[in-house]
Amino acid sequence: MELNVANTVKWMTLANEKIQENKTYLTELDQAIGDGDHGINMARGFQEVEAKITATDYDNVSDLLKDVSMTLLSKVGGAAGPLYGTAFLKLSMAVKGSETLDFPKFKSGLAEALAGIKQRGKAEKGEKTLVDVWEPLVDYLNGQNSFNAAGFESVAKEAMEATKDLEAKKGRAAYLRERSIGHLDPGSVSSFYIFSSLAEVLKE
Ligand code: ADP
Ligand code: MG
Ligand code: MG
Repeated sequence: MELNVANTVKWMTLANEKIQENKTYLTELDQAIGDGDHGINMARGFQEVEAKITATDYDNVSDLLKDVSMTLLSKVGGAAGPLYGTAFLKLSMAVKGSETLDFPKFKSGLAEALAGIKQRGKAEKGEKTLVDVWEPLVDYLNGQNSFNAAGFESVAKEAMEATKDLEAKKGRAAYLRERSIGHLDPGSVSSFYIFSSLAEVLKE
């Protein structure tokens, strides 16, 4: 695998497309167990990400990811903005100076991103947050020597679906306690769109 400037732009463009298409769905998921703005927040943020990165020339992936991070941080809002912003900032920092990302760099960068999310949100696996998608992916990558797009996507999908049975312990959904069970976690679904976009771009 190689993540370069061109396919990272494609990754973000495709993620934006999926988020725009599923804006209402994400908002409905958040209406069930939160305040009903996740689709709106993510659609606004990713629209801005696409606008920013397609209007800028980059000579390395790290700078591109830093702009993704800064844009998400300032435009998404809510709980998700700082969390996704931190994730992409950590990923960008972990690959600083790299023109492109090979598999080992991507793997360590994603692990750093997960650590950043957990630190920022004070969340652990099993608390019905986007950690429940990011952590299984990092664990899966640890057992791999090369990027397998189909495997990566299916781990992300299963992890996202598994949030349905969890009781929320962090974020707004935690106020519902056991009534949060039976609903997908909105942030895990948006994370799935981001990661399935990556799998699609790298499979081409
Ligand atoms: P808000 O809850 O502020 O309205 P969003 O609706 O945009 O923000 O995002 C909600 C999502 O953020 C949740 O579905 C969950 O995945 C994630 N989330 C919320 N709190 C935390 C936390 N403390 N740690 C990790 N993820 C969290
Ligand atoms: Mg919300
Ligand atoms: Mg909100």
